[in-house]
Amino acid sequence: MEQTFIMIKPDGVQRGLVGEIIGRFEKKGFTLKGLKLITVDRHFAEQHYADLSAKPFFNGLVEYIISGPVAAMVWEGKNVVTTGRKIIGATNPAESAPGTIRGDYAIDIGRNVIHGSDSVESGKKEIALWFPEGIAEWRSSLHSWIYE
Ligand code: GDP
Ligand code: MG
Repeated sequence: MEQTFIMIKPDGVQRGLVGEIIGRFEKKGFTLKGLKLITVDRHFAEQHYADLSAKPFFNGLVEYIISGPVAAMVWEGKNVVTTGRKIIGATNPAESAPGTIRGDYAIDIGRNVIHGSDSVESGKKEIALWFPEGIAEWRSSLHSWIYE
């Protein structure tokens, strides 16, 4: 089953949005397979955002991500990468639709509350980076009420 890496950024943790965000993924029907509150260092944040290292906002982005604890998660389900990105909304909250997490809870692109993997491939890389210890092995007893 497909998996994605979802991270509630330091602003989302500080603003008390962890429960709300987890609730949205849970109520959709996705399965929580990994969860931890962790403060990462500069080197780790630079690894996570390595693809963006040439961008002018890279240093500010790294400062933002290391500014406090983040809630790192693995969510599992059919099409969870693409659907997870839809639940999150567009990168710039000014363009995120109401009803999405960024559309409902963010204003500035540099404080957009949440990260979600952009492909199955980057999801695998990010899960390996953030959860080297591995993730939980379990199957929800609701499975047959969510999948036909
Ligand atoms: P995402 O996949 O939707 O998170 O977007 P990207 O992978 O393109 O960028 C990663 C993160 O960098 C975004 O979530 C923003 O927090 C930040 N970011 C992206 N573009 C900009 C920008 O133009 N300015 C600033 N300040 N931050 C940006
Ligand atoms: Mg991205």
